[in-house]
Amino acid sequence: MVAPSLDKITSFIPPKRTLMGPGPSNINPRVLSAMSLPVIGHLDPAFAGMMEELKVLLRYAFQTENPLTYPISGPGSVGMENCFVNMVSPGDKVIVCRNGVFGGRMIENVERSGGTPVIIDDTWGEPVDPNKVEDALKQNPDARIVAFVHAETSTGCESDAKLLTQIAHKHDAMVIVDTVTALGGCPVLVDEWKLDAVYSGTQKCLSCAPGLSPVTYSERVVDYVKNRKTKVQSWFMDMNLILNYWGNTARTYHHTAPVNALYGLHEAMILLKEEGLENSWARHTMHYQALKAGLEALGLQYVVKEESRLPQMNLITVPDGIDEAAVRNELLSEFNLEIGAGLGPLAGKVWRIGLMGYTAQQDSVMLCLSALGSVLSRMGYPVKAGEAEAAAHKAYAAQHEAAAAQKTAKA
Ligand SMILES: *Cc1c(COP(=O)(O)O)cnc(C)c1O
Repeated sequence: MVAPSLDKITSFIPPKRTLMGPGPSNINPRVLSAMSLPVIGHLDPAFAGMMEELKVLLRYAFQTENPLTYPISGPGSVGMENCFVNMVSPGDKVIVCRNGVFGGRMIENVERSGGTPVIIDDTWGEPVDPNKVEDALKQNPDARIVAFVHAETSTGCESDAKLLTQIAHKHDAMVIVDTVTALGGCPVLVDEWKLDAVYSGTQKCLSCAPGLSPVTYSERVVDYVKNRKTKVQSWFMDMNLILNYWGNTARTYHHTAPVNALYGLHEAMILLKEEGLENSWARHTMHYQALKAGLEALGLQYVVKEESRLPQMNLITVPDGIDEAAVRNELLSEFNLEIGAGLGPLAGKVWRIGLMGYTAQQDSVMLCLSALGSVLSRMGYPVKAGEAEAAAHKAYAAQHEAAAAQKTAKA
């Protein structure tokens, strides 16, 4: 790209898009309004009160009582790094499960923290194999941590976070769990599943802007980090220092919190509380069912088996003879619709259609089906006009009926 000349540059006005890729997803307008409120000092008592509320709201989202639950100033990747840099001391052995892009990044994090990764590989598009985790723990009794991704955004596959944690705990290892794409979109029950260190992101299923990473740490993790023999290598990330900023009410300056971004997250969490966590999960599932019905009516196929599919991230095989990138480009330029490309071994072979957060609603589903049908048909793929939309409407109707019947049964 040629650098634009300075005198031609004016205010940036982004185009209006429907974001159905792997994130960011669309943001609820109430969150955007909250972010435009006046800035106040980050040590202002009014701000401190907001921070305390935010911790309570995040505990609700994570379903935990962990005192150390707060948003890290940085995107999901910083949440990931925060877990590893605090919990992995030089020489520590960490079992890392890799079944997509983000497991691969965890390996990098272990190595950069001075640890030794023990890598368990599973096929992209399949869940982490619990038997392999059990075997790795038997062969490496000194492994202190098992790290895995709950909802792999690169493949649209869910792993059994509860079971993997049970196995780790049986061998006295802690878990680090990536819930960036999971939180808000499908159940993440931190206390019930006894997860130790969990990080997420604001830009996927929480209808919020990118740039923050909610984390929650169990008492076991906090104790471990407090008693580390070596200093945490990162000053900014050191949990022991952050504890005096987010951990208690007598706040001492650590860094200037991203004040307006936190207003946005606070509002996103209020929205989640108003909707109800279970209803948010149900909404993601409902729109997935309709999207699935429509995509299947178009003759398109899912990569992941139904039982481990994520409703919020749909991986679809590109039909033979169709130019994967050309379809995405046309969706964007003609319909203002963004969908994602495949990564790694799936590059060029799949589309990733996200239904996350504020994007998980009926108009996104209908736009996607109709736009995709239009573009594919022009490229010579056989599409019967209206069939996909009709299948989606039918799926919605069936689900509304089922919900109504359930309500009557309860009454
Ligand atoms: C998006 C994502 C991340 C990284 O989050 P950023 O906000 O992009 O830094 C990490 N893990 C998973 C599973 C993700 O989907």
